[in-house]
Amino acid sequence: MSVSRTRSLHLRRIVALGATLFLAAGMSACSALKNDSSSDSSAHTIAPGKTLTVSTSFYPIQYLAEAIGGNLVKVSSVTPSNVEPHDFELSGKETAELGKADLIAYVPGFQPSLDKAVKEVGSGPTVVDLSKPANLVHHEGVEEEHEHGDEASGDASAAATDAATSESSEAGHDEHSHAEGGEEHGSDLDPHFWLDPQRMISAAETLEASFAKIDPANANDYKAGLDKLKTALTNLDTQYSTGLSTCQRTTFVTSHAAFGYMADRYKLTQASISGIDPETEPSPAELANIKSVVQSTGTTTIFTEELVSPTTAQAIAAETGAETNVLSPLESKPDRGDYTDAMTTNLDRLKIALACQ
Ligand SMILES: [Zn+2]
Repeated sequence: MSVSRTRSLHLRRIVALGATLFLAAGMSACSALKNDSSSDSSAHTIAPGKTLTVSTSFYPIQYLAEAIGGNLVKVSSVTPSNVEPHDFELSGKETAELGKADLIAYVPGFQPSLDKAVKEVGSGPTVVDLSKPANLVHHEGVEEEHEHGDEASGDASAAATDAATSESSEAGHDEHSHAEGGEEHGSDLDPHFWLDPQRMISAAETLEASFAKIDPANANDYKAGLDKLKTALTNLDTQYSTGLSTCQRTTFVTSHAAFGYMADRYKLTQASISGIDPETEPSPAELANIKSVVQSTGTTTIFTEELVSPTTAQAIAAETGAETNVLSPLESKPDRGDYTDAMTTNLDRLKIALACQ
């Protein structure tokens, strides 16, 4: 979580570099600095014939950009593959790449290092904040919001269908401290919107609108890409709704609290070993709590994830007679297939874990 001491130096250098490139290339018809371009009218337009370059903060946003833009855009991910994005620190090289993009799409409050870099990239890139269309919310475990009241809280359709799991959410409650890393956003919002296909659709619509604004010559193609993407995401949503509608259990145990929006959408309850930040070690009391949730709910699967050590999950499984399986938080590009493939695999595994019909 520590902030690189060299970052400000990097940024100064990068901003200078970005400004030089911008002036020298003269490729943009931009006239004003713009942020949060999802709703502004001052976005750059790129020169005719130039390929739109898009820098995304991490994989699910990369997936959206590629699906919308296809061959018309050049998309990169700031967070490399197989790197856990939560506390990823941008190097000078990564910050330089950021400053050269036509468009940056990200979720503020999730990656503090990226938040700072975005603020200092200068007037080059159009910056698209996807936290707004994704409609981020607080999830249980944020002390001042939900100390005891999951069922009473507005968004907790989510919810907690039994007291044990309501308690369990407390075990995963580092959300607040993680969010404090988001500084200027003052955000204790759960960033993991991409595990809810409906929120992905909203984010995709905002991204497509920005593409069309910056590169109007290809607007029809971006719209076509969006339509196809929406069909895929809608199908995914339907599969989840149907597949998870009749299950023996509704509580699933995860490694870190990445699945809150998924739980909300499909009326499940997530109990997590770590909080919103996967680096957070559970306390002995939290461990005891999660074990009691496993036992009281008859949980048979403890989910692990690709980029976090499974040691604690394996220990809980061994002590409770459960098994482990991987449930991907999609925080990095899947080894095989894409977002929808990994989400489909997740659904299959959830259905087994919850004994769904
Ligand atoms: Zn996460």
